[in-house]
Amino acid sequence: MQFCTLFSGSSGNAVFLSTERGALLVDCGMSAKQTLDAMKHAGLDPAMVHAILITHEHSDHVKGVGVMSRKLGIPVYATAGTWEGMGGALGELPDRNRVIITAGESFFLDDLEVAPFSIPHDANDPVGYRFFTGRHSVAVATDLGYFSQTVCDALSGAELILLESNHDPDMLKRNPHYPQHLKTRILGKKGHLSNDAGAEAAVRLAQCGARHLLLGHLSAENNTPDMAYRTAHAALTSAGAAVGEDVTLHVAARFQASLLYRV
Ligand SMILES: [Zn+2]
Ligand SMILES: [Zn+2]
Repeated sequence: MQFCTLFSGSSGNAVFLSTERGALLVDCGMSAKQTLDAMKHAGLDPAMVHAILITHEHSDHVKGVGVMSRKLGIPVYATAGTWEGMGGALGELPDRNRVIITAGESFFLDDLEVAPFSIPHDANDPVGYRFFTGRHSVAVATDLGYFSQTVCDALSGAELILLESNHDPDMLKRNPHYPQHLKTRILGKKGHLSNDAGAEAAVRLAQCGARHLLLGHLSAENNTPDMAYRTAHAALTSAGAAVGEDVTLHVAARFQASLLYRV
């Protein structure tokens, strides 16, 4: 499998995943044009993309989905709750390109097994995804109010995980531009994972066999890539993991493709 983020952060998210048989996107939260440009810039062929899988209906995940689906003529996969939440946001799509999936029920796209799992987040029926092919598996787990047992179980043993490290709680609490209700929402159990909570999750995942951790969905205002990295690095190191040897650690850029992983 090849895996990278094209965009990551509260301003827009998209993940590219390919096997020898084809590729898919998880979310398309920037415009279709920006996403196609990002793929081309990273040397990835948009014609390979056969599906778009949605995590949940928030605009930073779905903004470009409708146009992308129409441009490429490809189906969109989402839970029933997410379809309801997206309402008319996607515009017209033929019924054959509207696929309903269920958290906890795996399905196949070509040779790729897709396992959607429930995540704690303030959306109708949000999911993360784990992908399996042969012996290898990778996973996407962002927009997590907390690192629930369901999420932990779903990710256990994955080699490569895109893991949320959204904010520094002190920066968030001090931010004068954020109203209190938004702070409460982000810090709540259906909000977003802080750097510390992400770091704690990173340690557990490394202990469960993760070899590559990619931190993502950083807040633009309440975090920095350096803070997210240092927090996870410190936690992994103090748990006895050699970063760069036992496990690699990177931060997904907001507006640029990440490293292209091959597992
Ligand atoms: Zn969200
Ligand atoms: Zn989001």
